[in-house]
Amino acid sequence: MTETTRNELTVVILIDALGWEIVQRFGFAGTLFPQSGPLETILGYSSAAIPSLLSGTKPSEHGSWAMYRYSPSTSPFKLLRFLPNLPHPLEWRLRRWIRRVIDRRKVIKGYYDLYEIPPRMLSYFDVATRTDPYTPGGLRRETLFDCLETSGIRYRQWNYRTPESENFRQLLSLVGSDKQLLFLYTAELDALMHRVGIFHNDVREKLAWYEEQLAKIVTTACDAGRPLRLYLFSDHGMTEVSDAVDLMREVESWGFRLGTDIVAFYDSTMARFWCDAETRVRLGKRLNETGWGRVMSDKELDAFGCRFEDGSYGEVIFLLPPGRLIVPSFMGRETIAAMHGYDPDDRFSKGCFMSNEASDNCPGSILDLKSYLLERIGVTRE
Ligand SMILES: [Zn+2]
Repeated sequence: MTETTRNELTVVILIDALGWEIVQRFGFAGTLFPQSGPLETILGYSSAAIPSLLSGTKPSEHGSWAMYRYSPSTSPFKLLRFLPNLPHPLEWRLRRWIRRVIDRRKVIKGYYDLYEIPPRMLSYFDVATRTDPYTPGGLRRETLFDCLETSGIRYRQWNYRTPESENFRQLLSLVGSDKQLLFLYTAELDALMHRVGIFHNDVREKLAWYEEQLAKIVTTACDAGRPLRLYLFSDHGMTEVSDAVDLMREVESWGFRLGTDIVAFYDSTMARFWCDAETRVRLGKRLNETGWGRVMSDKELDAFGCRFEDGSYGEVIFLLPPGRLIVPSFMGRETIAAMHGYDPDDRFSKGCFMSNEASDNCPGSILDLKSYLLERIGVTRE
């Protein structure tokens, strides 16, 4: 290893939901990154995309797809099954209390939220993974952080647990240190766009702030005499919401009783159901007849790497088209300005990859990022 390579610094910035369409619309950070392009993502939400990005494997391999999967026997909420239906203010207080108990017992180590899930329905579900993919050993597949640990790379990472402004400040303070790699994840742009939409002026301002932070990193590395590799990418894009459907009420009107005939989980862009084989056929037909979306075939799920033999993420999976939202859902009672979790082939679903070095073999998918980064920093694996 030469003196120059020893002194090299790699900075990796992962901005949740910064879609390629958004990068292009705002001309984001073009002068800092001679290399940039769209990045394929996978079907699902960050609970699927982040583990896929960090491990380079699909959800069917690393096991984490939607945030919740059907698993009554392991559910940390199983005692709630005996609850009656409660009025909304009581449900809200109960969820707060459940959250406190679960957090105090440290049952779930990764990111999760109880959103607006009816407490009684929680008893059927477990979180996709109870461990934290940002912690080494946090996934059943080897992650970027596992590789950094075993290779002895001196690194530091920041994630959703601390505010992004503080994280950028700390990162900047370590640019001149002996750290070889600094990794920062932020979900604050994602939260902003859910609220205001993807092309709002607040998004422009947020992106301008990121550009300032990136410019400071470049200047500080230069002042410290450290050759800098700067990468910025996202796990998926974001789509403006155009309409909403009340799928929960519709399914109820067909006479399927929740918790008796069917178990359902209403994500915001997908509804997932568990029921007997005969009900599955009837339900699938009714869902397709609404014209609100499509029941996904096993073949399609297989191609997306989201087919689970045990049906734990849904035996009938109904996906909405880009821009449509299930309202109310277990994720929220009100509509929001923008959402992700649509068909990954839609242009607004694409993430972005940006680099300050020109390279011929840029990653084209979130699944390529781990091996790309390891190769660039010279970590070889057998
Ligand atoms: Zn989001």
